[in-house]
Amino acid sequence: MSKLSHQNQEHCASYYAATANDQTRYATLAGGHKVDVCVVGAGFSGIATALTLSERGYKVAVVEANRVGWGASGRNGGQLIGGISGEHKLVAKYGDELADTLWAMRWRGHEIIHERVTKYAIQCDLKGGYLDVAIKPRHMRALEAEYGELQRRQFPHACRLVEKKQMAEVLGTDAYIGGLINHYNGHLHPLNLCKGEAAAAVALGAEIFEQSPVTRIEHASRPRVHTAGGHVEAEAVVLAGNAYHRLERTRLSGLVFPAGSYIVATEPLHEDLARQINPLDLAVCDPNAVLDYFRLSADRRLLFGGRCNYSGREPADIKGSIVPRMLKILPQLKGKRIDYAWGGNIGIVVNRIPLLGRVSPTVFYTQGYSGHGVNFTHVAGEIMADAVGGTMERLDLFEKIKHWRIPFGQAAGSQMVALGMLYYRLKDWL
Ligand SMILES: Cc1cc2nc3c(=O)[nH]c(=O)nc-3n(C[C@H](O)[C@H](O)[C@H](O)COP(=O)(O)OP(=O)(O)OC[C@H]3O[C@@H](n4cnc5c(N)ncnc54)[C@H](O)[C@@H]3O)c2cc1C
Repeated sequence: MSKLSHQNQEHCASYYAATANDQTRYATLAGGHKVDVCVVGAGFSGIATALTLSERGYKVAVVEANRVGWGASGRNGGQLIGGISGEHKLVAKYGDELADTLWAMRWRGHEIIHERVTKYAIQCDLKGGYLDVAIKPRHMRALEAEYGELQRRQFPHACRLVEKKQMAEVLGTDAYIGGLINHYNGHLHPLNLCKGEAAAAVALGAEIFEQSPVTRIEHASRPRVHTAGGHVEAEAVVLAGNAYHRLERTRLSGLVFPAGSYIVATEPLHEDLARQINPLDLAVCDPNAVLDYFRLSADRRLLFGGRCNYSGREPADIKGSIVPRMLKILPQLKGKRIDYAWGGNIGIVVNRIPLLGRVSPTVFYTQGYSGHGVNFTHVAGEIMADAVGGTMERLDLFEKIKHWRIPFGQAAGSQMVALGMLYYRLKDWL
């Protein structure tokens, strides 16, 4: 995929784009604008940052290369999962002193999303209910430990372990040996959430410019964000282009690598079949590094996703690579029509810990959630807004993390990430 193929595009042909309930098209950036904060990228990271800042009274402009939610945020599995990618490493680094802060951050994205869905009446099919499944005994032991931690911390939401003999009551497959249900986790229509949050930010005075790829950031006491047709001058800039941007290479190259994840959506299933497959309407995710995930949509399609490559290049036949994986888990779906097949790029970081920091005192960045971003992008938006306002505590936690920087350019870096993933895939098999 060439660099230009990530610019000036419309939404990919996903189930989400076909069922988006807001068709607003924002203008392209033209001429000069002055705001308090300019955000680059209109995915969850950028929009959550813009909305938090707008709620706090800042004048914000968001500049997006394609459309609001065009990237991973409008294409993902829609699984709302607690936690921060790489969090055990964060806990190991910061120890007991910050364990409570990290635990709170683990669920903060859920709070923000629930608050916003209610406050701004965002129609995004938000629903509680998520099942982590175990394939091997060691996975079950990990889920038991997680359940123990939830109990120790008096987690106020319904959770329960599911033993092998009870699995048939929660899922129509014998592929798994048990699981953990958490009702605070759940699922949603990500593009409708992103568009709804964007509309809320605009209602509070934010401006959004679409089809406006940022070509460079000019560093000055008031930095300037440039596109082909205009510029935005601001007190601060937040860079939120994640796996799709190539800006600030001197500081940020070799840190985040695109990994393709792909999803198919079946035709709407008969109520009986949907109930047989997934009677509790849970989002389901397996524990492998190269994982499968699935859930029902609001109109009872099965959305089944998996990760296929680490080059960021879309496979020629998404259906051909995902459907066999789906039928292995849910053979009842044999013969069901596949109405949509699409994919997107996840931003992978070598140690899996999200990359949040500063390129300069006035240019901030947030990216690299390693496949785990619906929840954490919303926390990141709050951390970015805090940092713009001068509160650095949570930004510092992430900025102090040492990251591997892979030299030799993007292609070589992607090959190294692919090799690393081969290692994890072997571990999955063992
Ligand atoms: C197929 C798939 C399934 C996934 N499933 C899940 C899931 O179920 N649960 C979960 O928690 N996470 C999931 N993820 C990960 C999650 O979607 C991401 O972590 C999250 O959406 C990242 O949001 P973002 O805003 O940082 O990036 P993106 O949503 O990718 O947004 C970045 C935006 O920046 C724009 N941009 C880039 N460069 C420029 C530029 N130069 N100028 C202007 N704009 C620019 C892009 O056009 C894009 O719109 C999945 C990801 C994929 C791809």
